[in-house]
Amino acid sequence: MIVTIDGPAGSGKSTVARLLAERLQVHYLDTGAMYRAIALAVIRSGTDERDEAAVAAVAETAEVDFDGSDVLLNGRPVGEEIRDANVTAVASIVAANPGVRKRLVELQKAIGRRGDLVTEGRDQGTIVFPKAEYKFFITASPEARARRRHRELLARGTRLPLQTVERQLRQRDERDENRACAPMKAADDAILVDTTDMSIAEVVEEMAAIILSSETSGSQPADRKS
Ligand code: C5P
Repeated sequence: MIVTIDGPAGSGKSTVARLLAERLQVHYLDTGAMYRAIALAVIRSGTDERDEAAVAAVAETAEVDFDGSDVLLNGRPVGEEIRDANVTAVASIVAANPGVRKRLVELQKAIGRRGDLVTEGRDQGTIVFPKAEYKFFITASPEARARRRHRELLARGTRLPLQTVERQLRQRDERDENRACAPMKAADDAILVDTTDMSIAEVVEEMAAIILSSETSGSQPADRKS
């Protein structure tokens, strides 16, 4: 079974995806961590993130993999370093690079062939797993997303004004939505979940109920199994 969860930064999709995977007892794939891993490799190699050919070459040689729970870069789990503000900004730039996307989409499809998965990102229901059994697109108002990201950053010791966090989030949304290659959008057959006024537990509950009820009745929301 493949469950895709796409949506913008701060929508709560990472936490929801992880908890949903635990609940369903399947692996959880954080594809944002893969783009962040490439960004880290680009930064470490001193490559200009806007040099398309050079970035694609780094993506070609960097060993990115998944061990069932963590994304690995050159054999080691990517740690908190990929959450740095600089890595975050570079990730959203290299994610617009067609060479990077081609490499990571192939890897994600291969991971999907290994077994059941809850996978989250921007293009999982549209490009990577168009035939996924369950597709969700999670949103929340920009203000709610900025408040959540602000709290997360504070918890990690990064103190930034809320307005700065909101501006950075909007810039990232803008890049993700408007890039030529695989822009972020909901699949036509995705179920939309607006989490603005919902707790994480409520979102997980709603999604698990949809999946478990159709698994027991033997039909999928969009009947994609056939
Ligand atoms: O989800 P997260 O914020 O960790 O993703 C980091 C960046 O990676 C995003 O800003 C986006 O540009 C990119 N991304 C993507 N496609 C995905 C997952 C992430 O373009 N499937």
